[in-house]
Amino acid sequence: MHSGITITMIIMEVIVNSTTLIIKIKRKSIKMIIAVASGKGGTGKTTVALNLALSLASACLVDCDVEEPNINVFLKAPLYTQETVTVDTPEVDTTKCDYCGKCAAFCMYNALAVVPQKVLVFPELCHSCGGCALVCPRQAITWKKRIIGTIEYGTRGTVELYQGLLNIGEAQAIPLLKALKKKIDPTKHIIIDAPPGTACPVIEAVRGADYTLLVTEPTPFGLHDLKLMVAVLRHQHLPFGVIINRDGIGNDAVEQYCNTENIPVHLKIPHSEEIARLYSQGIVFVEQMEPWQSKFHTMYQTVQQEVTASSS
Ligand code: SF4
Ligand code: SF4
Repeated sequence: MHSGITITMIIMEVIVNSTTLIIKIKRKSIKMIIAVASGKGGTGKTTVALNLALSLASACLVDCDVEEPNINVFLKAPLYTQETVTVDTPEVDTTKCDYCGKCAAFCMYNALAVVPQKVLVFPELCHSCGGCALVCPRQAITWKKRIIGTIEYGTRGTVELYQGLLNIGEAQAIPLLKALKKKIDPTKHIIIDAPPGTACPVIEAVRGADYTLLVTEPTPFGLHDLKLMVAVLRHQHLPFGVIINRDGIGNDAVEQYCNTENIPVHLKIPHSEEIARLYSQGIVFVEQMEPWQSKFHTMYQTVQQEVTASSS
């Protein structure tokens, strides 16, 4: 009798716990990782990321534009260096090396060259794949750490910021982006400001995001770059929608394209003197133009519904 009650209670407990767990998982899924990207720089990508972050009750911005991070020009959070990011670079032990050239022949990035009595290493070209050490018959290759950049962190009010800063002249952005994305806490509203362009750093920045907002302008250049980004995201099977910035300056070709391609246009930000004035003063416009807070917030909710519907 007792054990029967106990079993029932245990089952109920399990059911209650399961229900709680499901609710918790659902609650967590409400927080999204949103990437903000554009085919080229200067379309208002950072503006959108900032305005969205400041329209939510709390958010964590991740500035992945590591060659030129500029979110903090507007956020103005006190930052401190949280992490120095390094990569492994080969070093040749000349007491073991016989200059056979196998390492240089293997390296597809031309980061090694063997000349008489010397192995030249070009660290900026090295992708730290480790292959040269594997093919070296004399175990002459060891590794040293090379600093490629830093990760800075700061907060302003309820907004957090992680900012990647690639060293000047450094070509390897991907390891820094990977380190930066490890900082992401998926229980928070995450907004990633992706680098401009359509190359590998952008793909790394948007990878793992629940949704990407593509910021574009209603101009032929804007449409051209939008099409490139759409191709990239479709290839990666990542969901996305569009925000048209400086609406009113060009024509409606971007909107027509989005309609034809069944791409949602979530927001149109007008070409406005007031927005331009606030921008020039380093002010995020939702801070002075309150109705826009609810517009960004509503857009976030729409995206949430889209993400939830597609995952259920
Ligand atoms: S493969 Fe090894 S031994 Fe041959 S050149 Fe390279 S480092 Fe030297
Ligand atoms: S680690 Fe890879 S990329 Fe770097 S030098 Fe060796 S083979 Fe080339």
